Amino acid sequence: MDLYKYLPKTNCKKCGQPTCMAFALALLQGKVKVDDCTPLVEEAKYKKQYDILKELIGKEEGQEKQLHIEIDEDKCDGCGICVTACPVNARYCPPTLSGKAPDYPPDKHQLFEVKNGKCQLLNLEHCRRLEAEGRERECHVCEIYCPREAIKILYI
Ligand code: SF4
Ligand code: SF4
Ligand code: SF4
Repeated sequence: MDLYKYLPKTNCKKCGQPTCMAFALALLQGKVKVDDCTPLVEEAKYKKQYDILKELIGKEEGQEKQLHIEIDEDKCDGCGICVTACPVNARYCPPTLSGKAPDYPPDKHQLFEVKNGKCQLLNLEHCRRLEAEGRERECHVCEIYCPREAIKILYI
């Protein structure tokens, strides 16, 4: 919402997004640039909003931000909640919904695995956040469910 409030809010679609809200989300994910909203760039009445957005988004704009899921080994106690809570694990291996570890090889779709008492991140490319355009989700499940606050989702 912090980004959205500085957009023109006309839903003109010139940026290729269906709404200004969708554009704000894409901006947050680093998938679009402020300058992709042409009314904001071209219309003088939006100059102040444009400047604020550029300030908010920061100087790294233009460099594609990549998804990182960081696991703090010092905080992780190997409880395995992330393994059973991640919707990708549940989708490809429904028994995880009842608390069981995925029973398929970790080189398939599994995102997390507990090894030697610590969680490890496996196939990040299967994270819901990286699914095909239109199917990706603002998933925060692993971050929210980790009782030790050991997981951080970042775009850097
Ligand atoms: S171009 Fe700008 S005003 Fe138009 S929909 Fe996209 S974000 Fe909204
Ligand atoms: S939920 Fe958190 S503490 Fe538990 S295994 Fe996963 S990262 Fe470690
Ligand atoms: S963000 Fe969602 S899909 Fe991605 S690893 Fe975390 S729980 Fe799984």
